[in-house]
Amino acid sequence: MNFELVKKNSAYKKFASDVDNGRVSHAYIVYGEDGDLRKSFLTLACMKLLCKSACGECRVCTQVLEGNYVEILRLDGADKPSVKDISALIEKTYVKCVVGDKKIAVIDNAELLSPQAQNKLLKTYEEPPANLTVFLGAAHESGLLATLRSRGKKLYLEDIPTADIAKELVSCGVDELTAETAAAFSMGNYEKADKFCNETDYRDLYDKTFMMMAELKKSSSVPEYVYGGLFEKERIKITLDFMEIILCDIMKKVTGSKAPNCTVNREYDLARASEGFTEQSAAAAVIAVNDARKKLAANVNAYSVAGYMLLEILEAKYKWQKK
Ligand SMILES: [Zn+2]
Repeated sequence: MNFELVKKNSAYKKFASDVDNGRVSHAYIVYGEDGDLRKSFLTLACMKLLCKSACGECRVCTQVLEGNYVEILRLDGADKPSVKDISALIEKTYVKCVVGDKKIAVIDNAELLSPQAQNKLLKTYEEPPANLTVFLGAAHESGLLATLRSRGKKLYLEDIPTADIAKELVSCGVDELTAETAAAFSMGNYEKADKFCNETDYRDLYDKTFMMMAELKKSSSVPEYVYGGLFEKERIKITLDFMEIILCDIMKKVTGSKAPNCTVNREYDLARASEGFTEQSAAAAVIAVNDARKKLAANVNAYSVAGYMLLEILEAKYKWQKK
């Protein structure tokens, strides 16, 4: 991602002003659902700490960009690092610098670290080496221990304006129509927009979700959709995201809202998907999707979550029919 997009983010502006004013905190927690944006932020923040202008061209910046600056220690929560891995990282923070005088520890997806690993990490906060800055990146607060959350300065990444996302995608070689569709659909999340342009599976899932929303009319066909691939354990969360986006537009349609749609060039599908919905039932459907997310977070089986949700949506449509 183009760093200019990150520089516009208020979270980055706050951090940059800390650096410029010599008030760098020993620890930052960077929150943002957009994994691409978070990753770019963390890289740019490291550059800014080590090269005041974050020029992107000097030796230090180049090494940061290439991921081989020796004083940056990295772990990713998604790799499920053990307590031992955390200990090894902490030990390295006390070793004298080989280059420059700053050490940086970057742990993205920190909310995925085990509570034991997080506890171990807390130890660095007790007696941190003076030259160390810790960055934790996280999609959200849930999953992070309260004790860990309270120790760092919080930075919240805001959504990227969809026009900026579209422009960025075009500059990466995406055609204008696809870029516009992806940007509107992403609702400000670059990672989603990028996946939409570049991952055929992702787009395929989007099309299939749209089809289901347009064709699901009776409860007897619920099992066919539940077991038709959209709601497998590894896909259901994405499918729920798609359903919410489509329902958001259905809501606009049934209320006559003039707000721009999140789905672009899908007027025909959207009209079909909107059939039979009223304001009340569309709202109930959004609630059903969110309830499904909560159940998944509580480890309820994906198929039963999906089945229950689809039946709830159909029931709401039936209950709130246009008279
Ligand atoms: Zn530089």
